[in-house]
Amino acid sequence: MSKKDNILIIGAGLCGSLLALRLAQRGYTVNVYESRPDLRATDISAGRSINLALSDRGLKAMRLAGVENKVKPLCIPMYGRLVHDTEGNTFPSNYSGRDNEYINSISRGDLNGLLLTEADLYDNLTIHFNKKCTGVDIENNIASFYDYKTKEEFTAKGDVIFGTDGAGSSLRKSYYLERKFLFSYSQNYLTHGYKELEIPASAEGKHLISQDYLHIWPRGDYMLIALPNLDGSFTVTLFLSYDEGEYNFNNLTTEEAIKNFFNSKFPDALALIPNIAQEFANNPTGALGTVKCSPWHYKNKNVILGDAAHAIVPFYGQGMNASFEDVTVFDAILEQHEGDWETIFKVYEKTRKADTDAIADLAIDNYYEMRDHVANPIFKEKRAIEMALEKEFPNKYFSKYSMVTFKEDIPYHTAMTKGRAQDKAILNLLVDKKITTTDDLNSILKKVQLETEAILEEDKIAGLK
Ligand code: FAD
Repeated sequence: MSKKDNILIIGAGLCGSLLALRLAQRGYTVNVYESRPDLRATDISAGRSINLALSDRGLKAMRLAGVENKVKPLCIPMYGRLVHDTEGNTFPSNYSGRDNEYINSISRGDLNGLLLTEADLYDNLTIHFNKKCTGVDIENNIASFYDYKTKEEFTAKGDVIFGTDGAGSSLRKSYYLERKFLFSYSQNYLTHGYKELEIPASAEGKHLISQDYLHIWPRGDYMLIALPNLDGSFTVTLFLSYDEGEYNFNNLTTEEAIKNFFNSKFPDALALIPNIAQEFANNPTGALGTVKCSPWHYKNKNVILGDAAHAIVPFYGQGMNASFEDVTVFDAILEQHEGDWETIFKVYEKTRKADTDAIADLAIDNYYEMRDHVANPIFKEKRAIEMALEKEFPNKYFSKYSMVTFKEDIPYHTAMTKGRAQDKAILNLLVDKKITTTDDLNSILKKVQLETEAILEEDKIAGLK
């Protein structure tokens, strides 16, 4: 069996709609079941965050599916972070020393809608909305659904089933519940949640603060960020503890408490969010967590991709990018082993797992970096050195952030190992005052490279012990 296989996909979110499109392009018969209504026809929030940062790994996947040129007009380039302090001062921190590297703010709904519209062009692909998967018989590949419209239950069979139904995946739950194999699973929540607010556009439909940056108000235990939208507004996200510290979601329950909090910690942001108390009370507080599990498949029958297999916290802006990269990696392995699903699934996980584990860990690291380190003097000094090195040696030096975000040919795991060693190297050199004002960039690069190699070597030896 190969192209005649009927593919059943659970979840038409970002990963599922791209996967469906790609498999239809390869000639498979694809049926996708999505629990929500068609987001192109209904005024529903697309779920999770309203906008996201799309970067090179995600764009590579768009290229694979032939939609990059349609996605680009939906993007607003963000060249760096604009850090806001409590006095309302701002200072920029670019993402890269290379001018052509930036991340893109994009609406989740627009991007998902575009992928669904592309998918609709294929006669061999059908999307069924309002159908919630309630479980999968993983041995017989029969998925059970509840139809929100007819209020009826039904089943559907696939030769192969893909679970791309996000962090709460029904297929992943079935792996756990059916106990047909040893399924390792962990889910770790942060003590912080998130809430979205809005900076509206000006009366002329313009952005009220610069649209060229991801705005960030780091405050140690909590932070605020804002990403621009095409209509001139910004989506603002507050990351805050549920119940710890002076300010937390549990004690910000009155208009006065909310306004006092923003007034003392984010005064410039407060001035831009007219409906803050209303939005704060009405918008949900979302949880943030990391899901790791293994194996990702059962026999030659079914497999999970995207957040279903590896949900991560959003602080590296890579969850969607990683989920799109899943499709790129899966597609290359499918090309090599087409017709042998079990081998495809095995090789896929073997190729991919270390990388999704790495980006999960990096995303946690960045949680602390964004909240705290971006405003820390030694971090700023390190960042300035990295920017200078990237500018002077655009083909020789890549910071950890650049490797993760802009070098789609470097696997996440390599980016993590090398990037962490580089970070440590520069911090060591700065703390030991081994980088001096008389050093030119050539000698700084040499010192950083030597120190990085020494750290990588030490790590290797430590790993062998
Ligand atoms: P999802 O997008 O969750 O899609 C799953 C789909 O399955 C949904 O359409 C859902 O309705 C459907 N579904 C769920 N259960 C069922 C069921 N039982 N039956 C049928 N259908 C079902 N990533 C980035 O790359 N950049 C960012 O800047 C970024 N920012 C983020 C900010 C926040 C606050 C959060 C929470 C996440 C962010 N992410 C970001 C991560 C990103 O949202 C996810 O990694 C991405 O959405 C994963 O795509 P997915 O298709 O695997 O899952």
